[in-house]
Amino acid sequence: MGKKLSFFDRFKDSLLDKDKYIRLVRLIAYVALLVVALFMTVLNVVQYGITDPLTLTTGIFSIALIPDFLLTYFSKTGRKIAAVLFFLEFIAMFAMFLYTGKPEGFSAIWIALVPIACMIFYGRKIGSMVTGVMFIILALAFYTPLGKMAGMYPDYTQTFKVRFPILYVAFYLIALFLESIQQYQFQALEEVNAINEGYSTHDGLTGLFNRKGFYDLLESELKTRTYSKIGFIVFDIDFFKKLNDTYGHLAGDEVLIELSHIIKEKLGNSLAACRWGGEEFLVCYVDEQIKKADLEEFRMAVQNHEFIFNDKVMKTTISGGVFETNDKVFANKDEWLKNADSALYNAKETGRNKVVYF
Ligand code: GH3
Ligand code: MG
Ligand code: MG
Repeated sequence: MGKKLSFFDRFKDSLLDKDKYIRLVRLIAYVALLVVALFMTVLNVVQYGITDPLTLTTGIFSIALIPDFLLTYFSKTGRKIAAVLFFLEFIAMFAMFLYTGKPEGFSAIWIALVPIACMIFYGRKIGSMVTGVMFIILALAFYTPLGKMAGMYPDYTQTFKVRFPILYVAFYLIALFLESIQQYQFQALEEVNAINEGYSTHDGLTGLFNRKGFYDLLESELKTRTYSKIGFIVFDIDFFKKLNDTYGHLAGDEVLIELSHIIKEKLGNSLAACRWGGEEFLVCYVDEQIKKADLEEFRMAVQNHEFIFNDKVMKTTISGGVFETNDKVFANKDEWLKNADSALYNAKETGRNKVVYF
């Protein structure tokens, strides 16, 4: 606790959270593009001079990446604004590459980066749309008089004009494939996380809360809910060991599962029902959610229920102890449960199959 996370730890952490991942990838992409664009700008200055259209294109693009990075770094809204700005800058730059063609038509080849960058920035849907827009610009410039009219670099060969769009589409398909895998991985991760979250707060056998789940809920309820009394009922199955010994442990498990159904049915109108451990359950309620008569009805329902396992019919009963308080301090919970437990002990001592109030 309190240990400062290293850069690498935070990096790994980001890979597990979709939102952090998107932010991280974009920041890295802006920096990477800035490095490349600056390098190319320097090269263009040396080769073509500072006022050349290609130099201006890469130069302006480099500068525009700085606010994109800062917006993304500082806020989520900023990140979205930056993504729109980036889209415009990006398309404009590549259209300029197509237009200038320099050196020897090579600039246009950078356009192959569009599908990959778009997938990183916009995901599959919008990424595909942006990729499509660039493809239309490419097709109009190559195959209609518009390119010539706009003064596009004139020396693209016929072979280049035919093959380059195919290359572009191939890059798009690869990017789409990789992005899809990434999306499915995130989906799988979210599902696994949801399952783990369930295991950490719920009992695997009955699906009721476990202690941790119950305490989490109790703590937040005590803070937020208004009530005049809160009650805790601790149940324990009578002679459960004998039932296990007679019918087997799996039959015992079935009794626990069916009992949890009766709890949900008869005492569902409560704050939480929890498997406290073994064959003990805890139900928590406020005000008049659960009255004495409800508990009596529940106790009778258990007594009359026919638990069935492998065609064998089993009967059982439960004993319960109840403690009610108007206290709201979470730290006192152990005291409350101790009182409920002592009422339960009383029920066991005085004949079982009954509910005793503290
Ligand atoms: P009492 O009326 O005094 O409560 O008697 P008891 O037999 O119910 O109490 P005891 O504490 O002696 O035995 C509890 C038994 O519950 C022992 C244990 O094997 C059984 N048990 C605990 N957890 C599970 C479980 O998950 N499945 C099954 N089948 N049995 C369990
Ligand atoms: Mg017990
Ligand atoms: Mg018992």
